[in-house]
Amino acid sequence: MTRTFEEARDWVRLGTALLTGAADAGDAVLDAPSVLPGWSRKHVVAHVAANADALGNLVHWAATGEQTPMYASAEERAEGIAKGAALPAAELTGWLRGSAAELETATAALGAEQWRAEVVTAQGRTVPATELPWMRAREVCVHAVDLGRGVTFADLPAGFLSALCDDVVAKRAAARTGPAVRLVPTDADARWELPGTGAPAEVTGPLHELTAYLTGRPATPTTRHGGPVPRLGPWL
Ligand code: ZN
Repeated sequence: MTRTFEEARDWVRLGTALLTGAADAGDAVLDAPSVLPGWSRKHVVAHVAANADALGNLVHWAATGEQTPMYASAEERAEGIAKGAALPAAELTGWLRGSAAELETATAALGAEQWRAEVVTAQGRTVPATELPWMRAREVCVHAVDLGRGVTFADLPAGFLSALCDDVVAKRAAARTGPAVRLVPTDADARWELPGTGAPAEVTGPLHELTAYLTGRPATPTTRHGGPVPRLGPWL
């Protein structure tokens, strides 16, 4: 299954709308825990806002050829999240919306040549700028779910979920640390093989449940025979 550039751009818009909607709340709600261990909802919002600024650096790189990395350092990245998480709700959600709009404007201004320009991600991967919408789509869509405000993977398009499963399976396969798993969605014509130790356990359920399971979010898929599924380790 392959995703297209246009799909990724649609998913950025959809995920941004879901995320900003879910983040539209006061301090009491946003200071509460998110789905992510150890992170409040404000941490999640700050992380996604900082991500827009960081991806903006890569858009600038693609547009001008000037090498501007996503983050100056891992420390700067962590500091940005901590600082953002301490902001009042109105200021923080203002940053979320403003940074998303700015990224969208900068992205929309790229020409065909600039889209083909290569940039280096925070993980050290060299990618053409055409990968940037997918990187952003992943962030806004998955973290909209992580806010724990009612958005679930079931609210995301099947094409996005499949593309995300492709990504996570590739990353997990490269690490080769977990159990062998075969993922068979009940509602999509797809399957994924996760190489690992032992005979593969067949894990089945709706695509959105399998995606939640693969990404380490709360999920309730079962094995083919209705039993419990193998525990997967962290993937990022
Ligand atoms: Zn993230």
